[in-house]
Amino acid sequence: RVVYCKGAFVPEGDAHLSIFDRGFLFGDAVYEVTAVLGGQMIDNDAHLDRFERSLAALAIPLPVPRAEIERIQAELIVQNNLAEGTVYMQVSRGEADRDFLYPEGLSANLVAFTQARKLADTPSQKNGIAVDLAADLRWQRRDIKTAMLLGQVLLKHQARANGFGDVWMVEDGLVTEGSSSTAFIVTADGRVVTRPNSHVALPGCTRKAVLRLCDSHGLRLEERPFSPAEAQGAAEAFLTSASSFVTPVIRIGDVTIADGKPGPMTRQLQAYYLEAARGPRPA
Ligand code: PLP
Repeated sequence: RVVYCKGAFVPEGDAHLSIFDRGFLFGDAVYEVTAVLGGQMIDNDAHLDRFERSLAALAIPLPVPRAEIERIQAELIVQNNLAEGTVYMQVSRGEADRDFLYPEGLSANLVAFTQARKLADTPSQKNGIAVDLAADLRWQRRDIKTAMLLGQVLLKHQARANGFGDVWMVEDGLVTEGSSSTAFIVTADGRVVTRPNSHVALPGCTRKAVLRLCDSHGLRLEERPFSPAEAQGAAEAFLTSASSFVTPVIRIGDVTIADGKPGPMTRQLQAYYLEAARGPRPA
């Protein structure tokens, strides 16, 4: 695999970062993951917007112009012959002797790589998954997409060990989001419900796309928080992310959702999303 590291495209074994990189020492870095389908990036403008917003929130300068980042992503897709999978990119604040206070004028490190994997029509998307419930133990600026992900690593492992496909995190009696996804439910009268964007969760790019699809197809949408109990009693539940698209949730904790099969609204949104992702893109 060819990867991008600090200005150069190199074989992955030749890519090196300093042990003093602040991403390594402090998690002082932000990242993005863009899905690739048929060799084309999906929702990449939204991912780049969020990348810039995360960097600005941490006062990390964008090391290369946005157009150059797009060129690097595209080049990795071509060089690795990637038809389906993801492009990961990360910017860390840079390298300095270890100190919580960072010096002015560091030069930020950009790395990027591709991962080949099946994204569309996966067994999880066809059959749905079970999600565990766990207290959200992360910091309070979850709207910034930082590389500081141990909360999710721990909770996802715990969920796996308990036999679940993933976990929905809970704070103040309300679902915040999935370990790496946005949580949705559908009410008995057919309204699609998800939390409004705030500091408690990452503003999902796939969430944004799904909200746009609800709007363009005349589906009723409600942006409000919901409790685990409301989710367990909902007509349908699903989650969204760049790498899992729209994935049905058929059990939450020990409660089966409706008849335990992916619901019709979820199926409809899956189809709309795939159609938009595969459809013609602006040149
Ligand atoms: N929430 C968290 C914590 C995430 O890590 C992710 C994606 O990785 C999402 C939500 C979904 O965001 P997106 O749809 O932009 O992939």
